[in-house]
Amino acid sequence: MERLRRGAQQMGISLTEAQLDLFRRYRDLLLEWNRRFNLTAIDTPEQVEIRHFLDSLSCLVALRQLDGYPGVARLGAPVRAIDVGTGAGLPGLALKIVWPGLRLTLLDAVAKKVRFLEHVVNELGLYGVVAIHGRAEELAHQPDHREGYDLVLARAVAPTGPLLELTLPFLHPDGWLLAQKGPSVIAELMGVDRALAVLGGRLHRAIPVEVPYLAEDRFIVAVQKVLPTPDRFPRRPGVPVRRPL
Ligand code: SAH
Repeated sequence: MERLRRGAQQMGISLTEAQLDLFRRYRDLLLEWNRRFNLTAIDTPEQVEIRHFLDSLSCLVALRQLDGYPGVARLGAPVRAIDVGTGAGLPGLALKIVWPGLRLTLLDAVAKKVRFLEHVVNELGLYGVVAIHGRAEELAHQPDHREGYDLVLARAVAPTGPLLELTLPFLHPDGWLLAQKGPSVIAELMGVDRALAVLGGRLHRAIPVEVPYLAEDRFIVAVQKVLPTPDRFPRRPGVPVRRPL
C-alpha cells in the first residue's frame, strides 16, 4: 500500500492509516471476487491501486480546481453523489473512503456487481452508501433520484454525448458532473453542444489530470447543470447510446 499512499500524496491527498486499511481490504475483496465473478479486467494488487484507486482519486484533484464555482462551494456540506455505471465501485467507493461525509449512491445494471458492492460496504463498515441495481434511464425518472444529487460521477460508461443523457437528469441545477475520460475526450466533445443545450448542461472544461504511476492521458470532463432537464429525458434503456442526441 506504500505505492497508494505515495501516489495519493503526490495528488495532495494524505491518507490516514485507517483509510489505507480500508483501501487494502477493498483491494483484497476485489481481487478475491474477481477470480470468481470476473468483475473487472484489472487483476493485480498493483493495478488495482493505480488504475482503480489513484485514477478514481483524480476526481478530487479536478474538484479542487473547480473550487469557487457556484455549486462547488457547497460541496463541503453533506454532498449527495451518484456514481452511474459504477461497476466494482469506481470511482465512487474510492472517493467515499477519503471523503467519509459523502452520501453516495452506487448504480449499476449488473446484479452481481451490485451484490459485490453491498458486500464491500458491509465489510468495510461504510455509512451513507447505497448500492442500486438498475439502469440510469429508469432510475433518473424516479422522484427520489431525479434532480436529487449535487454531484454525478462516471467512469468508462459511455461516450460523452450519450453519457450526458444518462447523468444530467440526476443533478439539480447548479450540480456538477465529473466524467473520467482518456484521450478520446477531444473527439467526443465535438458535437455535444446539442445534447448540452437540450439537457440543461454547460460544459465547463476537460480538466487534464495526472495519475501517479500511470503514463496515460487522463481528463475529467466537468459539466455544470444550469437548467432543469425536460421530463422526456433520459429516453428508454439503450436509446441514449444507440441514438445520441
Ligand atoms: N465505472 C466502473 C465500471 C465501468 S464498466 C469502472 O470504471 O471501473 C461500465 C459499467 O457501467 C458496467 O458495469 C455496466 O453494467 C454499467 N452500465 C452501463 N450502462 C449503464 C446504464 N445505462 N445504467 C446503469 N449502469 C450501466
